[in-house]
Amino acid sequence: MSGRRIAVCVKEVQGDLNPFDACAVECALRLSDDVTVVSMGRPSAKDVLLRLTRLGCKTVLMTDGKFAGADTLATAYALSLMMKKLSPDLILCGRQSIDGDTAQTGPALATLLGIPFAANVMEIHASETDLTVKTRTGEQTLSFPALLTVERINTLRFPKLTSAIGEVKVVDAAALGADPARCGLTGSPTRVMKTFESAVGRRKCRFITKDEMFALIREKAGQRRSSFETEEAQNKLKCVWCVGHEVAEAAGRIAEQVVVLERDDPRRIAARIEREKPAFVLWPADLWGRSAAPVAQAILQTGLCADCTALETDGNDLFMYRPAFSGTLTAKIRCLTRPVMATVRVADDNACDLMVGCGKGALGAIDAIHRYTDAMNGQRAASRGVVDAGLAPYDEQVGLTGRTIGCSVYVAVGISGAVHHTCALDRVGTVIAVNPDRNARIFEYADYGVLDTAENVFQEQ
Ligand SMILES: Cc1cc2nc3c(=O)[nH]c(=O)nc-3n(C[C@H](O)[C@H](O)[C@H](O)COP(=O)(O)OP(=O)(O)OC[C@H]3O[C@@H](n4cnc5c(N)ncnc54)[C@H](O)[C@@H]3O)c2cc1C
Repeated sequence: MSGRRIAVCVKEVQGDLNPFDACAVECALRLSDDVTVVSMGRPSAKDVLLRLTRLGCKTVLMTDGKFAGADTLATAYALSLMMKKLSPDLILCGRQSIDGDTAQTGPALATLLGIPFAANVMEIHASETDLTVKTRTGEQTLSFPALLTVERINTLRFPKLTSAIGEVKVVDAAALGADPARCGLTGSPTRVMKTFESAVGRRKCRFITKDEMFALIREKAGQRRSSFETEEAQNKLKCVWCVGHEVAEAAGRIAEQVVVLERDDPRRIAARIEREKPAFVLWPADLWGRSAAPVAQAILQTGLCADCTALETDGNDLFMYRPAFSGTLTAKIRCLTRPVMATVRVADDNACDLMVGCGKGALGAIDAIHRYTDAMNGQRAASRGVVDAGLAPYDEQVGLTGRTIGCSVYVAVGISGAVHHTCALDRVGTVIAVNPDRNARIFEYADYGVLDTAENVFQEQ
């Protein structure tokens, strides 16, 4: 597909390129010579785009006070106007931005443009006529034009020393013919009411011996945990719709009546919502729900709060709590439009009994750890440090730029417990950490700790 036009949507996060978007740019450069990178953001995002011009990308910065405060719906709307001007054959987005973490913009953008999309793409095979992609959930074939949201499947190349800096084209809302009512904060149905430091995922660690640990793993395997924290509401909402049975329990705690819809094509679900007008709709925050709900959101032009860990109601309105900034903060959110929609954390659909994660401190015993994991029918996992060193496949990476896990027992061996890793552990039943450093952060996110080296604990297993 070398002659095809590719547009990549990127976001500047804390002065840098969002890591998933960097992968999307690299995917685009491998597929075509005609790559345009588009970013909606502050004027400072120009620096990030300038760097990409050295890779041969054309770049466009959409910047305007009218775009400020945009949620995913308003962002997807503004980007859709730019995409209509560029009319690319393929649009690539990162899986999610690491500050907002919603993973909603890509699917909502594809829906607004009326083109097919695949989310969580791990491999892309392009022919002259179509694309076959491997995603986290299976394989999909799409015809052009299409949109893909990509995982962290490669590393953005460095520019050649001799490459020259190009220009960043800057456009504002008027140049795009944007409707001010659909832009920025004005066009955003969701509102952050407050944010506060998050205790989500923190656990009280009890230190145990390695023998106690192996006994505990056998005892706890099979005990799942829900990270959903909502208590029974005093004043309940009259009726809440749920897509899929998994969220019905959460809905029952905030509503007198719960209507459960089967999982289906989100366009059909949106059509039914449009006809019957429920005020509140909950979706599961699993891989399917997180790409299906934004499709309905874009059709219904309503607010969607991603990956809620708690819900609250006063009997009239719904208040949604979700982690932000890699789980370091919790945001309380409300929605100004109807229906109010949210994806809600459910038990992991791929949950297993045991996962054993190797960090950089486990490398001296990695073969023994793998032998133990395989003998226990467990799943291998790894920190990013180990994946980046090429010692484990990306599929195994747990964390912000890897996967979220929900197994019964997770044993983190030689993992320091950076927030980028621990943010993916909320749904784990029991977390056990093996680390000789008593001050390692991982112990704050573990139920049990073994203060020892990986070699001592696993070598003779
Ligand atoms: C934008 C961004 C996204 C990221 N996404 C992810 C992600 O998805 N997943 C992820 O994991 N990280 C991610 N990271 C990286 C993260 O910040 C950490 O750098 C990484 O998790 C550290 O890996 P580690 O714990 O294996 O290594 P280290 O931080 O080096 O920790 C090694 C640990 O091993 C212990 N140790 C040393 N020797 C031994 C021994 N013999 N036996 C047992 N323990 C020992 C040490 O005490 C230390 O605690 C991301 C970073 C950024 C900036």
